[in-house]
Amino acid sequence: MKRLVLYGAAVLLGLAAQNALAGGEKVVNLYSSRHYDTDERLYSDFEKATGIKVNRIEGKADELMARMRAEGRNSPADVFLTVDTSRLARAKNMGLLQSVDSPILEERIPDHLQDTDNQWFGFSKRARIFFYDKEKVTDPPQTYAALADPKYKGMICIRSSSNTYNQTLLAAIVTHEGEDAARAWAQGVVDNMARPPQGGDTDQLRGIVSGECEISVVNTYYFSRALRKNVRGVSDYIDIFGWVWPDQDGNGTHINLSGGGVAANAPHRENAVKFLEYLASDKAQEYFSAGNDEYPVVEGVAVAPSVARLGTFRADRINLSEVAGNLPVAQKIFDEVGWK
Ligand code: FE
Repeated sequence: MKRLVLYGAAVLLGLAAQNALAGGEKVVNLYSSRHYDTDERLYSDFEKATGIKVNRIEGKADELMARMRAEGRNSPADVFLTVDTSRLARAKNMGLLQSVDSPILEERIPDHLQDTDNQWFGFSKRARIFFYDKEKVTDPPQTYAALADPKYKGMICIRSSSNTYNQTLLAAIVTHEGEDAARAWAQGVVDNMARPPQGGDTDQLRGIVSGECEISVVNTYYFSRALRKNVRGVSDYIDIFGWVWPDQDGNGTHINLSGGGVAANAPHRENAVKFLEYLASDKAQEYFSAGNDEYPVVEGVAVAPSVARLGTFRADRINLSEVAGNLPVAQKIFDEVGWK
């Protein structure tokens, strides 16, 4: 018994020493599913400003989450960065994040773009809008609701229901309109599809070029990217596209997030919070959003030129933390209406 107690105490002391050592180190371990060139600049600026070295572990979001869960209490992860509100919410639900009490993050990041328990924060916004063939479509839909209008039968290309962007969009519609209206909408969109869902968002733009679809639902950064550099099958045809910012007279255009939070067992918690606060600074906001042609979350920060070309819009201000709560309902609706 005595020996066990002694052994236990030694283990505890050992762990405490290890934690003290780790906690005092000038490093922050970043688990990130982002991989943009501009992010390099972001990290080196943070290192210069704080002396805290950024160690990056990159991978697909789901793999990183599985890894954090498997590592458990011994996980070296300090910060988790990913895209899509649904993934941020999943990381929270899996217990991979912890609450952060930061006056800076509270002040800089609008309430509706952060978790109600402060476990995750949005650092850039992505808008999901309509692109259409200007020659063929003279009255494009102006609202998400209108996508379900029978007059667009056989005209719409949109990717599959396994895609997180569509899951979050439908969850937002559930939050605004209720489950029944959301189901009717999803059914209407399925009925209007030009083809069974396939490919990514860029493929929906290519579908317009090929003439398979007249209208497609796409995150803006895919189009901005085609403006900025050569995207096969899109950039050469850029003039055929018109676009609509949906719901400008209603709820505003649906937005989603790229964001992150402090890992549940972060060994360098203080550095992790500093890193998140840095991401909310004006300069980092510019890089972070420009890295993927997205929109800053902090008001008044400039957007990249490729993004500015799409013009300005009014974004939906619904609380995305609340929207995340309706993701399971959205998934159920997708299955019920046969949205592949
Ligand atoms: Fe994407």
